[in-house]
Amino acid sequence: MSSFHGKSVLVLGGSRGIGAAIVRRFAADGAKVVFTYFSSPDDAQALAAETGSRALRADSGECDALIALIVSLGPLDVLVVNSGILGAGDPLKMPPDDIDRLFRINTHAAYHAAVAAARTMPDGGRIIFIGSANADSMPMSGLAAYSASKAALKGMVKGLARDFGARDITVNVVQPGPTDTDMNPADGPLKDVMHDFMAIKRHATGAEIAGLVAYLAGPEAGIITGAAYNIDGGFAA
Ligand code: NDP
Repeated sequence: MSSFHGKSVLVLGGSRGIGAAIVRRFAADGAKVVFTYFSSPDDAQALAAETGSRALRADSGECDALIALIVSLGPLDVLVVNSGILGAGDPLKMPPDDIDRLFRINTHAAYHAAVAAARTMPDGGRIIFIGSANADSMPMSGLAAYSASKAALKGMVKGLARDFGARDITVNVVQPGPTDTDMNPADGPLKDVMHDFMAIKRHATGAEIAGLVAYLAGPEAGIITGAAYNIDGGFAA
């Protein structure tokens, strides 16, 4: 297990699900963790109290405010951009404004947060996005915008890895498959459909995703950058 004693970690979207598991993992490993939330203040405050971390309300869909918040926090050793929304539905019926907001949260926020953090990030820092295996495989209808918003992160980490590599800052994307959270409960109505696409026919846990994030944030992963890691039970294999 990596140790992050004294490291400053920011997790965007940490109040629930995978983000909360990431907050728990870094806090357990000794990091000073700040996380953002938007719609779930009670979950956020409970997690902050449980882990000794700090919760700040910030909408990842409001990029100017998000950038200002990151600047106000000072140098970060690790940035994890986890905040994301699904936005599933018939594309002929989905309001264009909803699609634009999905891209602001899932895609634009990742870019702006990474650049804002990199301005003061020390050499050897880590930037990790939570993408999706749907960047590589989209076997269901109604998720075109979502999969596009996550596929963009694969290109983004390749470019940002070049931009920040001279400072030994790594930039990678972790791409979960079905993972047991409020967004995708392990006992939800689509579980059998999703498991059919998988070699290992179960949802992942948030802790399993957090384990890969911790590895990429740790000292053994200093040469890994510009990469996308599927952690999906073979969903996209
Ligand atoms: P949940 O819906 O369970 O949790 C989403 C988290 O993101 C919450 O903490 C939520 O905070 C936060 N969030 C959402 N919108 C915003 C916003 N506008 N501003 C700030 N925070 C926000 O989702 P998961 O834990 O399942 O998903 C986490 C990430 O993993 C997402 O990016 C998702 O796309 C990705 N993913 C998930 C998979 C799965 O099967 N679960 C599979 C592949 C990828 P709050 O409630 O406080 O607003």
